[in-house]
Amino acid sequence: MRIVLLGAPGSGKGTQAKLLVEKLNIPHVSTGDLFRAAIAAKTPLGLAAKEVMDKGDLVADEITLGILKERITQNDAVNGFILDGFPRNLIQSEMLEDLLLELNMSLDHALLIQVDPDEVVARIAKRAEIEGRTDDTEEVVRNRLNVYKEQTAPVGDFYKEKNIVTEILGKGSIEDVQERIQAVLRF
Ligand code: ADP
Repeated sequence: MRIVLLGAPGSGKGTQAKLLVEKLNIPHVSTGDLFRAAIAAKTPLGLAAKEVMDKGDLVADEITLGILKERITQNDAVNGFILDGFPRNLIQSEMLEDLLLELNMSLDHALLIQVDPDEVVARIAKRAEIEGRTDDTEEVVRNRLNVYKEQTAPVGDFYKEKNIVTEILGKGSIEDVQERIQAVLRF
C-alpha cells in the first residue's frame, strides 16, 4: 500500500506514520527525517539543506526529489511506503506522479489530517521544549505555517481531483486519530 500523509506542521503526520508502520510493515519515508539525517552526517546535501530548513523554507524541489527517489527505490519499499512531508508543493506533486509512473507504482491513499491552527502552534511549542529542533522557534514556525498555507495546502486539491483524498479529523488522542485512519484503510 502506498500512502501520502498530508497536513500542517504539527498535525501529527509523523506520529501517525510510526503507528502505521507497525501495522502495515512498510517503511515511513519522511523527507524531513531524511534531511535531518543528512545534516547529522554532515554531508554536502545536509549542509545545504540546513540553511534553508532553519529558515522554515522549502529545500529545492530537485534535491528533495533526489533523496526521495533514493529512499523509495530501496528494497524495503517494494510493497509500499508511508510518505510524510512530500509532496509539499504542486511541482513536487507532479514530480511524484512522474516518478511513480517511471517506477510503475501508484498511490492508494492521500490522507489529509485536519487540525486547528491554534492547536498546531501549541503542539509545536511543546515539541520545541522536548526535541529542541532548530526550526521549531516561534518565528520559524510562523514561516513554516505560511509556507504550508501557500504552497502545501493546494496539494490536497491536487489529490482531491484524483479522488484519492480522505480528510481525517486530527483532534483527540493519538489513538483516536489512528483509529480514524485505520477505518479508512480498512484493517
Ligand atoms: P514539519 O512537517 O513539522 O514541518 P518536516 O520534518 O516534515 O517538518 O520538515 C522540516 C523541514 O524540512 C521543512 O520546513 C523543509 O525545510 C524541509 N523539507 C521537508 N520536506 C520537504 C520537501 N518535500 N520539500 C522541500 N523541503 C522539505
